[in-house]
Amino acid sequence: MARYIFITGGVVSSLGKGLMAASLAALLQARGYRVRIRKFDPYLNVDPGTMSPYQHGEVYVTDDGAETDLDLGHYERFTGVPSRQSDNVTSGRIYQTVIQRERRGDYLGATVQVIPHVTDAIKAFAQTDTDDLDFVLCEIGGTVGDIESLPFIEAVRQLRNELGREHTVFVHVTLVPYIAAAGELKTKPTQHSVRELTALGIQPDVLVCRCEKPLPDGERAKIALFCNVRKEAVVPALDARSIYGVPLQYHAEGLDREVLRAFGIETPPASPNLSRWTEIMDRLENPEGEVTIGVVGKYVGLPDAYKSLHEALVHGGIANRVKVNIQWLDAELFEHEDEVAAKLEPMHGILVPGGFGERGSEGKISSVRFARERNVPFFGICLGMQMACIEGARNVAGIAGASTTEFGPTDEPVVGLITEWMSKEGLQKRAADGDLGGTMRLGAYPAALKGNSVVESIYGTREISERHRHRYEVNVHYRDALETGGLLFTGMSPDGALPEIVERPDHPWFVGVQFHPELKSKPFDPHPLFASFVAAAVKQSRLV
Ligand code: GLN
Repeated sequence: MARYIFITGGVVSSLGKGLMAASLAALLQARGYRVRIRKFDPYLNVDPGTMSPYQHGEVYVTDDGAETDLDLGHYERFTGVPSRQSDNVTSGRIYQTVIQRERRGDYLGATVQVIPHVTDAIKAFAQTDTDDLDFVLCEIGGTVGDIESLPFIEAVRQLRNELGREHTVFVHVTLVPYIAAAGELKTKPTQHSVRELTALGIQPDVLVCRCEKPLPDGERAKIALFCNVRKEAVVPALDARSIYGVPLQYHAEGLDREVLRAFGIETPPASPNLSRWTEIMDRLENPEGEVTIGVVGKYVGLPDAYKSLHEALVHGGIANRVKVNIQWLDAELFEHEDEVAAKLEPMHGILVPGGFGERGSEGKISSVRFARERNVPFFGICLGMQMACIEGARNVAGIAGASTTEFGPTDEPVVGLITEWMSKEGLQKRAADGDLGGTMRLGAYPAALKGNSVVESIYGTREISERHRHRYEVNVHYRDALETGGLLFTGMSPDGALPEIVERPDHPWFVGVQFHPELKSKPFDPHPLFASFVAAAVKQSRLV
């Protein structure tokens, strides 16, 4: 039976619980255990798919087509274990399940209540699909004391009672703030937060204390005494220079050892093999050059909106042992041609990422044009590929009115709404005026690559599978016009109906993809498209 590690947070939000969970899972994996990480989100949206990136950052998409919290991206990047629909649940989904059962009459006339019906649904969720695992790490979103997270805390309290100490461990992440005026680290917020948790029936086994200065021995002992935790199980967590240094740092502080000890598992004296992480850090800390990539997008004010993209570019840097500087450029600023050149000339590569809506689209199209005409490496992702096709249609193929139906009615729908397509489950159909939530072309779809294409040489294969999240598609009827203009369709859905990849072979590096390759990139396994794009940017940096 799998063992469960429940992770809560106290004092403030943004303590890096997700990164802690991902790092701990990576450390357990390095010790030979099979792991999976799950996220409980206390908000009432059924999933984050309908939330603005400004509200919630990026929506991370799994192979099985779930729109999930961005922490699942960290989980996958640190463990390499592909996340699934069953790894993220919100209060909204739990309540939806319970209410649907109530409507069906499944509760046989009972009064439906938070305890036991909602907590039962949470417990069932935590325990699904866990057969082949040694450890399931469950991160509870929010901060202890929030009204919203109470049912989740109650459910994991019950699980401890049902599964026993040897199968459940509680890790609580808190903040130990430094008060400059007193010149001291303060333990009181941690004490209060643990008191709050114990009032809910949970005694943490391990405390992870985020602090900006090293935690003195005396303060560590004080936290242990007041919070009823062994001193070695009070694990200090200082800020790391790179997120990929976090697993090594937690290991040095004994996190994995203490969590295993809380299960009654004594660790062997020899360290686990962490060479994967030391190699990544060596490459990050000793780069042999640097490149600057301009990302021309819409949500540039909030880096979390492009979390996976940011990480995939870093991975491209790791692959080439160069530092990647990312310049986030607001597409709306590119309304004048001279503005475009002034902003983009210093870039060694230009990337137009995914996005929704018309705002900034002319700026994105101008950026594609700049990259094409000036021979600067260009990477278009999802909306970025659609913009590349519209640019090619307008400025090379002479279709002046080329547009996408996403921005309103058009006579030249180079990109159009798709209401029918084939998936593994058969024909999918959508109505133009249907629900917005969960109705895009979502998750992993295969694509067939053309022989002797640029992308075939990058991937090293002709069959790929990548993750999608979009409603519109490049219209295959414009294929001939675009190809005559040098933009070749080198990746297609297996039935030949949906363009998946376009490229310009007469350009140093110009690739547009309808999917999101950034979602599958890992620091120890950089995505080939990002590795190749950054390599092209390195070449470009030697030219300018
Ligand atoms: N808005 C576009 C569509 O829905 C692109 C989406 C995206 O970039 N993720 O097709």
